[in-house]
Amino acid sequence: AGTGKFFVGGNWKCNGSKDSISKLLTDLNSSTLESDVDVVVAPPFIYIDQVKNSLTDRIEIAAQNCWTGKGGAFTGEISAEQLKDIGCKWVVLGHSERRHVIGEDDQFIGKKAAYALSQGLGVMACIGELLEEREAGNTFDVCFQQLKAYADAVPSWDNIVIAYEPVWAIGTGKVATPQQAQEVHVAVRDWLSKNVSAEVASKTRIIYGGSVNGGNCAELAKEEDIDGFLVGGASLKGPEFATIVNSVA
Ligand code: PEP
Repeated sequence: AGTGKFFVGGNWKCNGSKDSISKLLTDLNSSTLESDVDVVVAPPFIYIDQVKNSLTDRIEIAAQNCWTGKGGAFTGEISAEQLKDIGCKWVVLGHSERRHVIGEDDQFIGKKAAYALSQGLGVMACIGELLEEREAGNTFDVCFQQLKAYADAVPSWDNIVIAYEPVWAIGTGKVATPQQAQEVHVAVRDWLSKNVSAEVASKTRIIYGGSVNGGNCAELAKEEDIDGFLVGGASLKGPEFATIVNSVA
């Protein structure tokens, strides 16, 4: 881990029920978490209120998506204002499932990021390459293009955490090696330095996501440019998620 405060997010995706979430909240509330770590969980929208009412204030709440602007006649969408109203501090944007399953493009995601920031939400801005893009040697280009879309849209990087999530590692059990992740994190920092500013490059936390679990987190956390994790599957298990939070090196 680097010098910024370690950051661990749990993305529950489209999982859970009132009962299973109630059990997960009990486990999270009783876990011991290192004090020097920002911890955030992202439940499905409809359970955010339940989570807000029962989860310790030690853990902040994120949404998994939001609309590009002010609410209104946008059936099925949730606005950044509504997320603030219900107690969310963060929103995950640009997740690979939204890019590649649902079809969101860079500009649409950039617009969401800018609007969420304007309403005072923090943004977990996801980027990452597909397996074929990695195999073709295009990992950096793909990540830089996705970064540029955020950079073109947002007025400030103060409330952004970048989540590097290689698509081939998400939900597959195929975690990137610490070296593979570190290499991209360094390249992302370098891109920020050249295209935004040296200050943003050094201050912005870059977290890794993709099959992080209780067994592999400690090795990854040792890397200098890995400032935390975005965790999918393993965030549904309270004790394992706590192990990941406490892996800060
Ligand atoms: C994610 O959804 O952001 C993720 C990294 O999932 P998993 O940990 O299950 O690979």
